[in-house]
Amino acid sequence: MNWMAEAKTMLPQAVALRRQIHRHPELGLDNPKTRDLVLDQLKGIDVEIVRGKSTSGVVVSMHGARKGKSIILRGDTDALPMPEDTGLPFSSEVAGRMHACGHDAHTSMLVHAVKLLDRHRDQFAGTVKFMFQPGEEGFHGARYMIEEGMIDADACFALHIIPNIRAGTIAGKPGPTMASADRWEIVVKGRGGHASAPHDAIDPVPVGFEIGLALQHMVTRRHSVFDPVVVTVARVAAGTTNNVIPEAIELEGTLRTTSPGARKSAQENIRRVAQNIAAAHLCVAEVNIVEGYPVTINDAGFTGFARDVARALIGDKNYLDMAAPVMGAEDFSYVLQKIPGCMLQLGVMPEQRDPSGHVAPVHSNRMMLNEDAMATGIAMHAAVATKFLAA
Ligand SMILES: [Zn+2]
Ligand SMILES: [Zn+2]
Repeated sequence: MNWMAEAKTMLPQAVALRRQIHRHPELGLDNPKTRDLVLDQLKGIDVEIVRGKSTSGVVVSMHGARKGKSIILRGDTDALPMPEDTGLPFSSEVAGRMHACGHDAHTSMLVHAVKLLDRHRDQFAGTVKFMFQPGEEGFHGARYMIEEGMIDADACFALHIIPNIRAGTIAGKPGPTMASADRWEIVVKGRGGHASAPHDAIDPVPVGFEIGLALQHMVTRRHSVFDPVVVTVARVAAGTTNNVIPEAIELEGTLRTTSPGARKSAQENIRRVAQNIAAAHLCVAEVNIVEGYPVTINDAGFTGFARDVARALIGDKNYLDMAAPVMGAEDFSYVLQKIPGCMLQLGVMPEQRDPSGHVAPVHSNRMMLNEDAMATGIAMHAAVATKFLAA
């Protein structure tokens, strides 16, 4: 079966659908227009469709020649609340929203994987479940679909586009492939006063600075370089004017790790460092950590299988073994906690770049992708599913 050749014939329709979704980005857990576009594309195809109750998520099930195992293929559908500055003719028509993470391409590739596999049901036994999932960008969409009992299979697979590697290549690694992402906030409370008489106040501002620096010391002194931890202080806020010592200072940021152990100890370390530095200066630190997505951990066996499939599909030199995880986060992590599988990266580096050679990454207001690589994505979905469910 030449999946690549057949996927390439679908490219014009796949690009058209991706552009249509790109023009009309939707946010969060409710992406009804995108869902309806997907369902419209699937009219006339013999599949079972289960709609989510708490989200606009949809699971489309396709049965093969005989009974057998099942696999989930996942595409996310949501965009980001940010402006688009690509200048593309099919740019977002909704101000302040952009498909800057490529989920428009993920959705279109998955729709076309449905169409491709529909032509070749004799190639597999069992069921392919296509998971169209909203709310990836921090809304835990995958978790809601799991909680509703929509997600169940013997294996799972997803692709995420990445503009920073050559178009049409696929990259991946077993084990941790993306980070956990927790939001933390520290409020240091002192006692306000006159800026000319700090001894008569309890100034929380230098204490906040000290905590900000100590968090960086903490990363290098308390954590192994082989079990990475990233702590970024991304927001600092205090005071109202030049001659008043404020009552409090706020620090806010992100914590990224690639193992559950490092995540737990880093959370404890942030609390201890903040509370004790504050106490040393007669202040009190309130620490609030909001847990986001867990570490995305690829099953080693399934990743090896998907790597073999990719190498057969696109050639050995076009599969890249990733040396290290990406410190971004993914809610496909929840699916991988439940079902063995993997998420791989699909290179979509655009041909045109600015003179410096810089490639706008995902989440950039200038993110663009080489749409030709979508054929590789469609073919890879079909090849992974049929190899796993070999008839
Ligand atoms: Zn994203
Ligand atoms: Zn994404």
